Amino acid sequence: MPYQLPTEDQTLAVESFRKFLQSEIKPVAREYRDRFIPKEKMRELTQRIAEFGLPGCSIPAELGGMGLTFTMQGMLFEELVACSCDIALAVMINLGLPLLLTGASQELRDKYMADALAGKIFSSVAISEPDVGSNVAELKTRAVRDGDHYIINGEKTWISNGEYSDVVVVTCRTESGLSHILVDRKEHGYESRNIDKIALGSQSTAQLFFQDVRVPVTNLIGKEGEGLKNTMKLFEVARGHVGTLSIGLMRASLEESIAYAKDRKQFGKPIAAHQLVAAKIANMAMLLDASRLMCHRVFGLIDAGIRCDMEASMAKAFATEAAVRACRDAVQLHGGNGITKEFNVERYLREAIIIPIPDGTTEIQQLAISRALTGISAFA
Ligand SMILES: Cc1cc2nc3c(=O)[nH]c(=O)nc-3n(C[C@H](O)[C@H](O)[C@H](O)COP(=O)(O)OP(=O)(O)OC[C@H]3O[C@@H](n4cnc5c(N)ncnc54)[C@H](O)[C@@H]3O)c2cc1C
Repeated sequence: MPYQLPTEDQTLAVESFRKFLQSEIKPVAREYRDRFIPKEKMRELTQRIAEFGLPGCSIPAELGGMGLTFTMQGMLFEELVACSCDIALAVMINLGLPLLLTGASQELRDKYMADALAGKIFSSVAISEPDVGSNVAELKTRAVRDGDHYIINGEKTWISNGEYSDVVVVTCRTESGLSHILVDRKEHGYESRNIDKIALGSQSTAQLFFQDVRVPVTNLIGKEGEGLKNTMKLFEVARGHVGTLSIGLMRASLEESIAYAKDRKQFGKPIAAHQLVAAKIANMAMLLDASRLMCHRVFGLIDAGIRCDMEASMAKAFATEAAVRACRDAVQLHGGNGITKEFNVERYLREAIIIPIPDGTTEIQQLAISRALTGISAFA
């Protein structure tokens, strides 16, 4: 895919979003650094951010979205991550519901699409379970048909936005295989419990508990048994965005490292004038650029309607591991200051080591890439 310069419209949209983020979102992110942002506060933020096109950007205009591209969405998303990885993650998860609703019944779309696009409701996509992580095909959560309803029983874990969620799309085992069922917390009821993490503690990762939850069959998204296929389609988009989470972290690390390396003096000159420090800056910049190009290739292919599971795996694995290296170098470049809370780079590193895990670990992406190239599965 050839490199494409951003259009004037894209540049203007990014610039105005950046200004808004700096004045309205950055102060809140600072205030809540490493502290949980309560649901209503987070909702205020997601509603403001929705005005700029997240999550509506890539949703067709006839469904209430802006009808723009995934490339544009990725550009806006990078700005948000560079401002706050926590808030970006909450917004990224909210991107899932409108995308899934594009394949849902008119009834479900009418009920949820407008509020989802306006950032008014929080949604989660619940796949992982305590005993089932990388091997999604083994999911245990069951949805048993009872007349016009499903009865859902099971437990999900690591669910982003879980504690905030108003609705959750649960991947369940039904008679014909894995299926996606939309569960509404108020109408159908489920419990959640937040999980403490090494970083990204301003947003929610949670366990969800479903005990005899009765949901109408009309809440099925897509067809019964198509849950795995639809999950893989969602992963294609999600992996480009997860890669972009890491891009935002690398960008923030690089910007702060450049400023520090110009300012901090040792041996009578700025540390940027020492060749080993200069090499670190150059390496961080190369990792950032390569990752960004790989993620933009994914968005470009999706915009062109071309399936790109392998490229999405490559972008996710490369960008998320690149960020671990780049953010670690940023801490090293800051010396002792790098490990203090006075500077941001220690937080970026804690955030960076989380991102290679969700949406398929690096190892799972490597297996998927190799399978696509050789035709031979090394999964089991
Ligand atoms: C911050 C965060 C947010 C998340 N958000 C969500 C969410 O919103 N919804 C959701 O459903 N899930 C979510 N997850 C869960 C995530 O998708 C899983 O953690 C991930 O798929 C890995 O599963 P696991 O943790 O059970 O690890 P396991 O599958 O137990 O893997 C443990 C280790 O073994 C390796 N491994 C496993 N199988 C193989 C193999 N065949 N070959 C080589 N190595 C292997 C893995 O790479 C890993 O290093 C989130 C996780 C995190 C950390």
